[in-house]
Parts: sequence; structure tokens; C-alpha cells
Amino acid sequence: VKYFFDWEFHDDGKTIEPISIGIVAEDGSALYLELPYNIPRIEADPWIMENVVPHLEGVTVPREQACESINKWVGDDPEFWAYYADYDWVVLCQLFGGMLKLPKRFPKLCLDLQQWWIQLGRPEGVKPPAHFGEHHALADARWNRDLHAALAEYAKR
Ligand SMILES: [Mg+2]
Repeated sequence: VKYFFDWEFHDDGKTIEPISIGIVAEDGSALYLELPYNIPRIEADPWIMENVVPHLEGVTVPREQACESINKWVGDDPEFWAYYADYDWVVLCQLFGGMLKLPKRFPKLCLDLQQWWIQLGRPEGVKPPAHFGEHHALADARWNRDLHAALAEYAKR
């Protein structure tokens, strides 16, 4: 089963601070979690304050609980997809304590929608329009699912 996900996070060049994650399965079912983040660090970043923080719902779960929720919710034989996926994948691995601590059934890589778009020859007009709620992790994860559907359709032509 494919899972499309997106994180909001803060990167200072040394560490990545997770803020929120949205995951959408192929069937449209969804999981959304916010993590308790370092408030001074986030407040010091005007871009995050303007683009990410307004979307947050303010109910956070501890990291261990987030891992448990993701582990329980994701089914067997998952395939993970994200858009410009590198950071998102590292954040997911780090949530579990590192790549080798991912649940055993998780693959050790994430597929990248942007990479697929490039490999298809950068087709114009295939990406879904920018969506309301951009930088809300769940809205972005849903957009990722739509983008995958659009690319799959394009690839069939
Ligand atoms: Mg996002």
C-alpha cells in the first residue's frame, strides 16, 4: 500500500525539528499528528511563523506516542512517497530513533514524487494546482496523493 506523507519541520543546518506530519493512504484514509516542538526555535523563524504555525491545531502528542500511532496505523508492506522527499524521510526515520529503528516491515527508502516528475521529462501542467492550506502537513500529504495519481495517469499515456 502506498502512503503519501509530508512533514512540517525546522532545519537549522544541523538538526531537524519536527512540527507536524500528515500521512494519507491510497484509499484516502489519513493520519495527522503534531509534535511538541521547541517554541523559541520555531518563533525565531519568520517563514515558519507565517506559513506553518497558523495551520497548527495545537494538540501535540509525545514522540513515542507518535511512533506508536504511525506504526499501528500503517499497514503491511508499505511504500512511502513524499514530494522533495529527502528531508521528510530523514525526519520520519529520526522520529523512530534512526533508520535502523524503523518498524521492520517499513522499507528503508522513500520514493520522491519530484524525482518521478523529472524522470517523466518535467511535463508541464501535470502537477495539481496549488492547494488551499499549503504547509498544513495533511493538506500537503493529500496533494502528494493527487500528484501521484496525476503522474501515474501521465505515465500511462
Ligand atoms: Mg508541507
